[in-house]
Amino acid sequence: MHATPHAVSPPAPAAAPRATDRGADTAPWQRELARAIRDPADLCRALGLDPALATAAPAGFPLLVPRPFVARMEHGNPHDPLLRQVLPVGAEAVEQSGFTADPLHEAAALAAPGLVQKYAGRALVLVSGACAVHCRYCFRREFPYAEHGATLAGTEAAVEAIAADETLTEAILSGGDPLMADDARLAALVRRLDAIPHLRRLRIHTRLPIVLPERVTDALVATLAASRLTIVVVVHANHPAELDDAVAVALRRLAAAPALLLNQAVLLAGVNDSAAALRGLSERLVDIGVLPYYLHLLDRVRGAGHFEVPEARGLELHRQLRDTLPGYAVPRLARELPGEPAKVWIA
Ligand SMILES: *Cc1c(COP(=O)(O)O)cnc(C)c1O
Repeated sequence: MHATPHAVSPPAPAAAPRATDRGADTAPWQRELARAIRDPADLCRALGLDPALATAAPAGFPLLVPRPFVARMEHGNPHDPLLRQVLPVGAEAVEQSGFTADPLHEAAALAAPGLVQKYAGRALVLVSGACAVHCRYCFRREFPYAEHGATLAGTEAAVEAIAADETLTEAILSGGDPLMADDARLAALVRRLDAIPHLRRLRIHTRLPIVLPERVTDALVATLAASRLTIVVVVHANHPAELDDAVAVALRRLAAAPALLLNQAVLLAGVNDSAAALRGLSERLVDIGVLPYYLHLLDRVRGAGHFEVPEARGLELHRQLRDTLPGYAVPRLARELPGEPAKVWIA
């Protein structure tokens, strides 16, 4: 049906950080992350592609992709939809009007260091500035995390701000990717949030269970299971080929915590801008126990113009989904517009 998994050749000794550089007590997911691919030519070679296909990544946003995700790419296919999401290309350097560094005006929405609040009742904690994968269309690709206290101290300030605001019923852990924090740090954070009486829900926005399913550790599941809060996990997959059996197992374990599992995707040219890809994504998500939540139109971040799909085309694709899928398998087509009280539903 989709890309068959292929073994990825071992890292070139000089290019990838070695697992042995880390302490012996690092978790398997951290060791896997340490051997992630960071060199575009290495990525091309691992897929049997001409290394000349690779362009140098921009300094501020280098290539980063874990090997379990690379293993789901189709060998020898330069147009693989997973590869396109992570391989830096020359088109990123093309300036396009309307594409800016901070398209969602997030710097202006900081309620406290490390806390972004735009919408009523819920606020977003920037737990970690790091991610396990650098998606080329990321709207925070230029976000200055360090300036905004996305550090341990920043999380404490965010927790205090949530505790002081009784209108908040939901804390959203975000980043970067919040699951880049280790299990001990997450457990401490969840305990702090548990103790805030006006909070009812804890939401985690993460791509780690998709790109590195080993991240769903026993300790993480135990932390979620022990919380008094209702847990919602919003994962991020854009194409059905991302959802292999290891991902399905990891998501089942999260669901058993229990957690409500939702997916958000971004509509991306050359990745999932066809009815077949979007329908396949929805069908596969439902098969593995995840409800499609949002299908976002691209945030117009500098360097991502080549991923844009016109809104009219998005509407047409969405209509085809509605015509062929059960209602619960159809994501909301949405766009975020700075200053609006909620994400704008296009359909
Ligand atoms: C997207 C977002 C949310 C969540 O919005 P929902 O519509 O509830 O999923 C919350 N806070 C911020 C800052 C966001 O960008």
